Amino acid sequence: MVRPTHAVVDLDGLTANYRAIRDLLAAGAAGPAPRVVAVIKANAYGHGAVRVARALEREAAGRGAPPPMLACADIEEGVELRAAGVTAPILVFGALSVSDLDGVFAHDLTPTVSSPSAAQALEQAAAARGARLGVHLKIDTGMNRFGFRHDNLPATLPAVLQAPHLAVEAVYTHFATAEDGDHPLFERQRLRFEAIRAAASGLGLAGVRWHAANSAALLRDRRTWYDAVRPGLLLYGIAPPPLEPDLRLRPVMSLRSRVVAVKGMRPGETAGYGARFVADRALRVALIPAGYADGLDLRLAGRGVLLVGGVRAPVVAVSMDSLVVDVTAVEAAPGDEVVLLGAQGADVIGARDVAGAIGTVPHEILCRIGARIERTYNP
Ligand SMILES: *Cc1c(COP(=O)(O)O)cnc(C)c1O
Repeated sequence: MVRPTHAVVDLDGLTANYRAIRDLLAAGAAGPAPRVVAVIKANAYGHGAVRVARALEREAAGRGAPPPMLACADIEEGVELRAAGVTAPILVFGALSVSDLDGVFAHDLTPTVSSPSAAQALEQAAAARGARLGVHLKIDTGMNRFGFRHDNLPATLPAVLQAPHLAVEAVYTHFATAEDGDHPLFERQRLRFEAIRAAASGLGLAGVRWHAANSAALLRDRRTWYDAVRPGLLLYGIAPPPLEPDLRLRPVMSLRSRVVAVKGMRPGETAGYGARFVADRALRVALIPAGYADGLDLRLAGRGVLLVGGVRAPVVAVSMDSLVVDVTAVEAAPGDEVVLLGAQGADVIGARDVAGAIGTVPHEILCRIGARIERTYNP
């Protein structure tokens, strides 16, 4: 039984995007191509982390290559992947100082050390188990989120590097403004990270690997590629706006539904809660069985469109379980296919379009597609 509103996840598209990224890196790298750390946090941006991880593992096995490192937001996400049989190395991005750390050891996860307190907690946990734990060290070069401050490392690093049960395998940072070509912070962060690399031996970081680039940085500046890159959005077939890369990407997720009813509205009548939409003429509207409980934003009312009969139908009202759309311009009938995200006929609604309509990023559009929406996989 599949609800009329469902998401279709194109796993061939996902592996094609992964290949396109690898080809770009191979063609552009001065030396050996950087590796790809596939970011599958937040249930792979709503696509289904286990299915995405397995597809990437299969693709690598098909080439006789080891699977790519995967990246999760927290230990629990990593444990879920291991429980499903995923064997690829898994990096955990999140701050761990207040987490239950058992999963790191029981499931062979690679944690990020992003604060002195996290280092202490991990060292104690590793010592208690007699384990030596490989970790990635996060440096805050200006985002002011997770990571050791870039300008204080001589004071903070020694405790980490001297922890007998921790082995720093890689050092990384994260950009705050990589998609914004005008913002000076990107270059400032890049240069701060460069300075740390230049001072690596003196800091006790000789021989580690380095990574920095999210999707936007990867596209924008190959100097950020280092030993590995960390694309999320690009894997799912979407370039971070406003970047328009010359890269063949296939949007992986589409979101489909059906018209459940069509009715007329007279001029002056209103639709939806708060009577915010007022018909300025006689209209025909269609009801679609998906609403904000499915992750569709309330702000789509008056801003969003969806495809019905190959035509763009404006969203008039959004409620918890349904949408009202204006289908005056098209012959719509109950049962007709509706596309909220993806292609119908010659037209496409992309996550970038939806994000632009309500003033957010495509990441949020994908991640918010709700738990009630069933994902069907192809293949
Ligand atoms: C989410 C995340 C990424 C991926 O970002 P995209 O913009 O989706 O490519 C990379 N690195 C870190 C640390 C992240 O949290």
